[in-house]
Amino acid sequence: MAACEKALLRWGETSITEIVMSRAAAAVNVVPFTQPAETVSGADWVWWWVDSTSAYGMLVQAKRLTLRQDRWRFDFGYRTGSQHANLSSAAASLNLIPVYALYLGTGDYRNWEPCPDDHRGRRCPSCVKRSISLMPALLADPAIVNDSATTYERSVALEELWTPSSRGAPLIPVLMEQMDPELIDFLLTPQTGARAVARSAIDRILRVRAGQFAAAAPPAPSIMRGGGHDQLGSVFPDLPSDTGHWGVPYFKHVLDPLQHVAPDYVLEIESREFDADEVASTMPEDVAGVVVVRLSQNG
Ligand SMILES: [Zn+2]
Repeated sequence: MAACEKALLRWGETSITEIVMSRAAAAVNVVPFTQPAETVSGADWVWWWVDSTSAYGMLVQAKRLTLRQDRWRFDFGYRTGSQHANLSSAAASLNLIPVYALYLGTGDYRNWEPCPDDHRGRRCPSCVKRSISLMPALLADPAIVNDSATTYERSVALEELWTPSSRGAPLIPVLMEQMDPELIDFLLTPQTGARAVARSAIDRILRVRAGQFAAAAPPAPSIMRGGGHDQLGSVFPDLPSDTGHWGVPYFKHVLDPLQHVAPDYVLEIESREFDADEVASTMPEDVAGVVVVRLSQNG
Protein backbone atom coordinates (compact mmCIF):
# COMPACT_ATOMS: atom_id res chain seq x y z
CA MET A 1 0.00 0.00 0.00
CA ALA A 2 2.87 2.36 0.85
CA ALA A 3 4.61 1.60 -2.47
CA CYS A 4 1.41 2.26 -4.43
CA GLU A 5 0.78 5.50 -2.58
CA LYS A 6 4.32 6.65 -3.31
CA ALA A 7 3.76 6.00 -7.01
CA LEU A 8 0.32 7.67 -6.87
CA LEU A 9 -1.29 4.34 -7.80
CA ARG A 10 -4.66 3.37 -6.40
CA TRP A 11 -4.38 0.03 -4.60
CA GLY A 12 -7.28 -2.38 -4.73
CA GLU A 13 -8.54 -5.20 -2.54
CA THR A 14 -7.52 -7.99 -4.92
CA SER A 15 -3.87 -7.01 -5.31
CA ILE A 16 -3.40 -6.36 -1.59
CA THR A 17 -5.04 -9.69 -0.75
CA GLU A 18 -2.66 -11.47 -3.13
CA ILE A 19 0.33 -9.85 -1.43
CA VAL A 20 -1.00 -10.69 2.06
CA MET A 21 -1.62 -14.31 1.05
CA SER A 22 1.81 -14.68 -0.58
CA ARG A 23 3.52 -13.38 2.57
CA ALA A 24 1.31 -15.49 4.83
CA ALA A 25 2.05 -18.63 2.78
CA ALA A 26 5.63 -18.61 4.06
CA ALA A 27 4.43 -19.16 7.64
CA VAL A 28 0.98 -20.75 7.50
CA ASN A 29 -1.12 -23.07 5.33
CA VAL A 30 -2.75 -21.24 2.42
CA VAL A 31 -4.97 -23.20 0.04
CA PRO A 32 -6.30 -21.14 -2.90
CA PHE A 33 -9.25 -22.58 -4.83
CA THR A 34 -8.85 -20.44 -7.92
CA GLN A 35 -5.99 -19.09 -10.00
CA PRO A 36 -5.18 -15.45 -9.11
CA ALA A 37 -6.42 -14.32 -12.54
CA GLU A 38 -9.88 -15.69 -11.75
CA THR A 39 -10.06 -14.17 -8.30
CA VAL A 40 -12.99 -11.81 -8.20
CA SER A 41 -12.93 -8.56 -6.30
CA GLY A 42 -14.45 -8.99 -2.87
CA ALA A 43 -13.82 -12.72 -2.77
CA ASP A 44 -14.12 -14.31 0.67
CA TRP A 45 -11.35 -16.26 2.39
CA VAL A 46 -11.88 -18.79 5.18
CA TRP A 47 -9.40 -18.24 8.02
CA TRP A 48 -8.99 -20.80 10.82
CA TRP A 49 -6.99 -20.00 13.94
CA VAL A 50 -5.97 -23.26 15.58
CA ASP A 51 -4.16 -24.32 18.76
CA SER A 52 -3.94 -27.56 20.72
CA THR A 53 -7.22 -27.08 22.61
CA SER A 54 -9.50 -25.08 20.32
CA ALA A 55 -10.09 -23.55 16.89
CA TYR A 56 -11.83 -20.40 15.69
CA GLY A 57 -13.09 -19.86 12.14
CA MET A 58 -13.83 -16.68 10.15
CA LEU A 59 -15.09 -15.84 6.70
CA VAL A 60 -13.15 -12.74 5.68
CA GLN A 61 -13.94 -10.22 2.96
CA ALA A 62 -11.55 -7.39 2.12
CA LYS A 63 -12.72 -3.77 1.97
CA ARG A 64 -10.51 -0.79 1.23
CA LEU A 65 -10.83 2.58 2.92
CA THR A 66 -11.69 5.58 0.78
CA LEU A 67 -11.43 9.11 2.15
CA ARG A 68 -13.37 12.20 1.26
CA GLN A 69 -12.28 15.13 3.39
CA ASP A 70 -12.63 13.72 6.93
CA ARG A 71 -15.24 11.14 6.02
CA TRP A 72 -14.11 7.52 6.04
CA ARG A 73 -15.95 5.16 3.77
CA PHE A 74 -16.00 1.41 3.09
CA ASP A 75 -18.18 -0.14 0.44
CA PHE A 76 -19.77 -2.87 2.57
CA GLY A 77 -22.15 -3.65 -0.28
CA TYR A 78 -25.41 -2.56 1.30
CA ARG A 79 -26.33 -0.21 -1.53
CA THR A 80 -25.49 -2.59 -4.35
CA GLY A 81 -27.66 -5.21 -2.72
CA SER A 82 -26.58 -8.69 -1.90
CA GLN A 83 -22.83 -8.72 -1.19
CA HIS A 84 -23.20 -8.11 2.55
CA ALA A 85 -26.05 -10.64 2.86
CA ASN A 86 -24.04 -13.20 0.88
CA LEU A 87 -21.08 -12.90 3.25
CA SER A 88 -23.34 -13.45 6.26
CA SER A 89 -25.24 -16.39 4.80
CA ALA A 90 -22.06 -18.06 3.51
CA ALA A 91 -20.46 -17.63 6.94
CA ALA A 92 -23.53 -19.09 8.68
CA SER A 93 -23.55 -22.13 6.37
CA LEU A 94 -19.91 -22.87 7.33
CA ASN A 95 -20.33 -21.94 11.03
CA LEU A 96 -17.85 -19.07 10.72
CA ILE A 97 -18.01 -15.50 11.97
CA PRO A 98 -18.33 -13.02 9.04
CA VAL A 99 -15.54 -10.45 9.24
CA TYR A 100 -14.28 -7.58 7.12
CA ALA A 101 -10.54 -7.14 6.57
CA LEU A 102 -10.26 -3.38 6.32
CA TYR A 103 -7.35 -2.20 4.20
CA LEU A 104 -6.61 1.21 5.71
CA GLY A 105 -3.45 2.16 3.81
CA THR A 106 -0.55 3.92 5.49
CA GLY A 107 -0.69 6.37 8.39
CA ASP A 108 -0.05 9.13 5.83
CA TYR A 109 -3.09 8.01 3.85
CA ARG A 110 -5.14 8.29 7.06
CA ASN A 111 -3.57 11.69 7.93
CA TRP A 112 -2.30 10.09 11.18
CA GLU A 113 -5.67 10.56 12.79
CA PRO A 114 -5.22 9.48 16.42
CA CYS A 115 -5.65 5.79 17.15
CA PRO A 116 -6.94 4.81 20.62
CA ASP A 117 -3.73 2.92 21.53
CA ASP A 118 -1.28 5.39 23.06
CA HIS A 119 -1.10 7.46 19.85
CA ARG A 120 2.33 8.88 19.10
CA GLY A 121 1.66 11.32 16.27
CA ARG A 122 3.33 10.76 12.91
CA ARG A 123 4.98 7.33 12.57
CA CYS A 124 2.89 6.01 15.50
CA PRO A 125 3.61 2.23 15.58
CA SER A 126 0.01 1.38 16.57
CA CYS A 127 -1.29 3.35 13.57
CA VAL A 128 1.15 1.51 11.28
CA LYS A 129 -0.14 -1.85 12.55
CA ARG A 130 -3.66 -0.72 11.67
CA SER A 131 -3.02 -0.96 7.90
CA ILE A 132 -4.97 -4.20 7.97
CA SER A 133 -7.69 -4.25 10.64
CA LEU A 134 -10.44 -6.81 11.17
CA MET A 135 -14.04 -5.82 11.96
CA PRO A 136 -16.88 -8.23 12.77
CA ALA A 137 -19.46 -7.76 9.98
CA LEU A 138 -22.12 -7.22 12.65
CA LEU A 139 -20.42 -3.90 13.50
CA ALA A 140 -19.96 -2.76 9.88
CA ASP A 141 -22.82 -0.28 9.78
CA PRO A 142 -21.96 2.27 7.06
CA ALA A 143 -24.13 4.93 8.76
CA ILE A 144 -21.93 4.71 11.87
CA VAL A 145 -18.53 3.57 10.61
CA ASN A 146 -17.65 6.80 8.79
CA ASP A 147 -14.64 8.17 10.65
CA SER A 148 -11.39 7.07 12.26
CA ALA A 149 -12.78 6.82 15.82
CA THR A 150 -15.59 4.36 15.05
CA THR A 151 -13.42 2.37 12.63
CA TYR A 152 -10.70 1.91 15.25
CA GLU A 153 -13.18 1.23 18.07
CA ARG A 154 -14.97 -1.51 16.14
CA SER A 155 -11.92 -3.27 14.69
CA VAL A 156 -8.59 -4.77 15.72
CA ALA A 157 -5.22 -4.74 13.93
CA LEU A 158 -4.60 -8.10 12.23
CA GLU A 159 -1.19 -8.21 13.93
CA GLU A 160 -2.83 -7.82 17.35
CA LEU A 161 -5.60 -10.35 16.78
CA TRP A 162 -4.10 -13.13 18.93
CA THR A 163 -2.56 -10.83 21.57
CA PRO A 164 -4.02 -11.70 25.00
CA SER A 165 -6.21 -8.82 26.15
CA SER A 166 -5.11 -7.46 29.53
CA ARG A 167 -8.54 -5.93 30.08
CA GLY A 168 -11.75 -7.88 30.67
CA ALA A 169 -14.60 -7.59 28.18
CA PRO A 170 -17.13 -4.86 29.07
CA LEU A 171 -19.97 -6.85 30.60
CA ILE A 172 -23.49 -5.70 31.34
CA PRO A 173 -24.41 -7.01 34.84
CA VAL A 174 -27.85 -8.27 33.77
CA LEU A 175 -26.18 -10.38 31.07
CA MET A 176 -23.59 -11.79 33.48
CA GLU A 177 -26.42 -13.33 35.48
CA GLN A 178 -27.25 -15.39 32.38
CA MET A 179 -23.74 -16.74 31.83
CA ASP A 180 -21.98 -19.98 32.72
CA PRO A 181 -18.99 -19.49 35.05
CA GLU A 182 -16.68 -20.74 32.25
CA LEU A 183 -18.01 -18.07 29.90
CA ILE A 184 -17.50 -15.32 32.50
CA ASP A 185 -13.97 -16.57 33.13
CA PHE A 186 -13.30 -16.56 29.37
CA LEU A 187 -14.52 -12.97 29.08
CA LEU A 188 -12.74 -11.57 32.12
CA THR A 189 -9.31 -13.25 32.09
CA PRO A 190 -6.59 -12.99 29.40
CA GLN A 191 -6.87 -15.70 26.75
CA THR A 192 -4.25 -17.14 24.41
CA GLY A 193 -4.24 -18.83 21.01
CA ALA A 194 -7.56 -19.33 19.20
CA ARG A 195 -9.47 -18.17 22.30
CA ALA A 196 -7.62 -14.83 22.21
CA VAL A 197 -8.78 -14.38 18.60
CA ALA A 198 -12.39 -15.12 19.61
CA ARG A 199 -12.06 -12.69 22.53
CA SER A 200 -10.91 -9.89 20.24
CA ALA A 201 -14.16 -10.32 18.25
CA ILE A 202 -16.61 -10.62 21.16
CA ASP A 203 -14.90 -7.75 23.04
CA ARG A 204 -15.62 -5.32 20.18
CA ILE A 205 -19.24 -6.47 20.02
CA LEU A 206 -19.74 -6.19 23.79
CA ARG A 207 -18.20 -2.72 23.85
CA VAL A 208 -20.77 -1.51 21.31
CA ARG A 209 -23.51 -3.45 23.10
CA ALA A 210 -22.65 -1.72 26.39
CA GLY A 211 -23.14 1.62 24.63
CA GLN A 212 -26.52 0.51 23.27
CA PHE A 213 -27.62 -0.58 26.72
CA ALA A 214 -27.52 2.99 28.00
CA ALA A 215 -30.17 3.93 25.45
CA ALA A 216 -32.51 0.97 25.70
CA ALA A 217 -32.90 -1.91 28.11
CA PRO A 218 -33.23 -5.30 26.45
CA PRO A 219 -35.94 -7.79 27.32
CA ALA A 220 -34.84 -10.23 30.01
CA PRO A 221 -32.39 -12.53 28.27
CA SER A 222 -32.82 -16.27 28.41
CA ILE A 223 -30.24 -18.98 27.98
CA MET A 224 -29.85 -20.63 24.58
CA ARG A 225 -29.28 -24.34 24.97
CA GLY A 226 -26.82 -25.80 22.55
CA GLY A 227 -25.80 -29.38 22.00
CA GLY A 228 -24.38 -30.41 25.38
CA HIS A 229 -20.82 -30.31 26.66
CA ASP A 230 -19.16 -32.78 24.35
CA GLN A 231 -15.53 -32.36 23.33
CA LEU A 232 -16.28 -31.92 19.63
CA GLY A 233 -18.73 -29.06 19.29
CA SER A 234 -18.71 -25.46 20.44
CA VAL A 235 -16.51 -24.53 23.40
CA PHE A 236 -19.50 -22.61 24.82
CA PRO A 237 -22.73 -24.46 23.96
CA ASP A 238 -24.90 -22.41 26.34
CA LEU A 239 -24.92 -18.72 25.50
CA PRO A 240 -27.14 -15.73 26.38
CA SER A 241 -29.75 -15.10 23.67
CA ASP A 242 -29.55 -11.29 23.93
CA THR A 243 -29.82 -9.65 20.50
CA GLY A 244 -29.08 -5.97 21.21
CA HIS A 245 -30.08 -3.60 18.44
CA TRP A 246 -28.87 -6.02 15.82
CA GLY A 247 -31.75 -8.47 16.12
CA VAL A 248 -29.16 -11.26 16.11
CA PRO A 249 -28.24 -13.49 19.08
CA TYR A 250 -24.73 -12.11 18.92
CA PHE A 251 -23.07 -14.42 21.49
CA LYS A 252 -23.94 -17.41 19.34
CA HIS A 253 -23.05 -15.52 16.14
CA VAL A 254 -19.54 -14.75 17.45
CA LEU A 255 -18.74 -17.69 19.74
CA ASP A 256 -20.31 -20.72 18.01
CA PRO A 257 -17.34 -20.77 15.60
CA LEU A 258 -15.06 -21.33 18.63
CA GLN A 259 -14.83 -25.12 18.55
CA HIS A 260 -12.93 -27.70 20.58
CA VAL A 261 -11.62 -29.20 17.34
CA ALA A 262 -11.33 -27.67 13.87
CA PRO A 263 -13.51 -29.24 11.14
CA ASP A 264 -12.13 -32.13 9.07
CA TYR A 265 -11.13 -29.99 6.07
CA VAL A 266 -8.88 -27.90 8.34
CA LEU A 267 -7.23 -30.98 9.88
CA GLU A 268 -6.72 -32.42 6.38
CA ILE A 269 -5.13 -29.18 5.18
CA GLU A 270 -2.76 -29.17 8.16
CA SER A 271 -1.74 -32.77 7.55
CA ARG A 272 -1.45 -31.99 3.81
CA GLU A 273 -3.88 -34.79 2.98
CA PHE A 274 -6.42 -32.91 0.95
CA ASP A 275 -7.62 -32.18 -2.55
CA ALA A 276 -8.21 -28.45 -3.09
CA ASP A 277 -11.01 -29.06 -5.62
CA GLU A 278 -12.74 -31.39 -3.18
CA VAL A 279 -12.55 -28.86 -0.34
CA ALA A 280 -13.76 -26.13 -2.73
CA SER A 281 -16.77 -28.23 -3.74
CA THR A 282 -18.05 -28.13 -0.16
CA MET A 283 -17.90 -24.33 0.03
CA PRO A 284 -20.09 -21.51 -1.34
CA GLU A 285 -18.99 -20.18 -4.74
CA ASP A 286 -17.50 -16.88 -3.55
CA VAL A 287 -14.95 -18.56 -1.27
CA ALA A 288 -11.50 -18.03 -2.79
CA GLY A 289 -9.58 -20.33 -0.45
CA VAL A 290 -8.69 -21.40 3.08
CA VAL A 291 -5.95 -20.16 5.42
CA VAL A 292 -5.00 -22.16 8.51
CA VAL A 293 -2.89 -20.48 11.18
CA ARG A 294 -1.54 -22.55 14.07
CA LEU A 295 -1.06 -20.41 17.15
CA SER A 296 1.10 -21.05 20.15
CA GLN A 297 -0.82 -21.18 23.41
CA ASN A 298 1.89 -19.18 25.05
CA GLY A 299 0.43 -16.08 23.47
ZN1 LIG B 1 -1.64 5.91 16.63
